[in-house]
Amino acid sequence: MNFEFATAGRILFGNGRIKELAGIASSLGRRALLVSGSNPQRIQPLLDLVAQNGIQTELVRIAGEPTIPAVSDAVQQAKAFAADLVVGIGGGSPIDAAKAIAALATNPGEPLDYLEVIGGGQPLTEPPLPCLAVPTTAGTGAEATKNAVLASPEHKVKVSLRHPLMLPDIAIVDPELTHSMPPAVTAATGMDALTQLIEPFTCCRANPMTDGFCREGIRRVARALKTAYQDGSNAEAREDMALASLLGGLSLANAGLGAVHGFAGPIGGMFNAPHGAVCAALLPHVMSANVAALTDRATNDAELGRYREIAGILIDEPEARIEDGIAWVAGLCADLGIPSLSAFDIQESDIPAIVEKSAHASSMKANPIQLTTAELTDILQHAL
Ligand SMILES: [Zn+2]
Repeated sequence: MNFEFATAGRILFGNGRIKELAGIASSLGRRALLVSGSNPQRIQPLLDLVAQNGIQTELVRIAGEPTIPAVSDAVQQAKAFAADLVVGIGGGSPIDAAKAIAALATNPGEPLDYLEVIGGGQPLTEPPLPCLAVPTTAGTGAEATKNAVLASPEHKVKVSLRHPLMLPDIAIVDPELTHSMPPAVTAATGMDALTQLIEPFTCCRANPMTDGFCREGIRRVARALKTAYQDGSNAEAREDMALASLLGGLSLANAGLGAVHGFAGPIGGMFNAPHGAVCAALLPHVMSANVAALTDRATNDAELGRYREIAGILIDEPEARIEDGIAWVAGLCADLGIPSLSAFDIQESDIPAIVEKSAHASSMKANPIQLTTAELTDILQHAL
């Protein structure tokens, strides 16, 4: 047994905890750069909250998933405003952007110097600005992860800026903030949460600490996601999903992911497709391929045992078979109206390029077993 565990400095969880935002922000800084998503009106009350207690604020809007140029512009804005605090409020995109802006505002050079895969991959040398994360969706767990996923329009790929110093100083997870999420966003982000619990539980760097989080999170998604999708004001289901999302973030940041996320990075860079919907469309097919490859080539039964355990938790039946668990996930995708990958204009002819780019993704290396080019191709064909 050999592992490391790190997370946000403080995590505040619970309905109504958002009321503590102004007090906490004022303990971290006086000049806050607020990073929000494409619809700041939806979170205006939260922005007003930060502006209390004598905190000066400036707003940055990140429309869609953050790109390297958008983050570079925001870093300049942070410097011009002399920001001493960055607050990310919204889904995974503005929170990831806030983490990247906080890091790049204090570290010299260009974003590319620090990016994985397409850049220099240098470690950060300076502590980032204090960063406060407030999720308003339930899926990415970005409030508890040490990376920011940034799109490079130039390279047509999404890559991570990653460093332990990028863990937010404080995360406020208030399930009530997720009640207004529309059903399609609830479905896509919720399936991302499920993927981010199944992949760390089965990946080659799984550890006993994150295993506990994964079991608890999978159980909550299994009982709550469909209800949250059908009835967004169901407080119990929203609370389950907010906690499951957080547990997924804690797990992926300390264990790793797998082939679903190995594919999702390149697909997100090449096509205009929401991350959660891409993960959902791939998840049952990646589970099937991994189970088949493990059955063929694994040297022991431990990994298959994990898939058996997942099936038992999902179906709430300890004797459930692996294939029943995979069928349950596929059925949930259907119930939530998750489209196949072809809905995002991905075609058969794109598969070789996606497979080639995915082979270099960091998440692919954490997959429980190395998949062949033929197996990766087969997964995408089934997910189209
Ligand atoms: Zn994800």
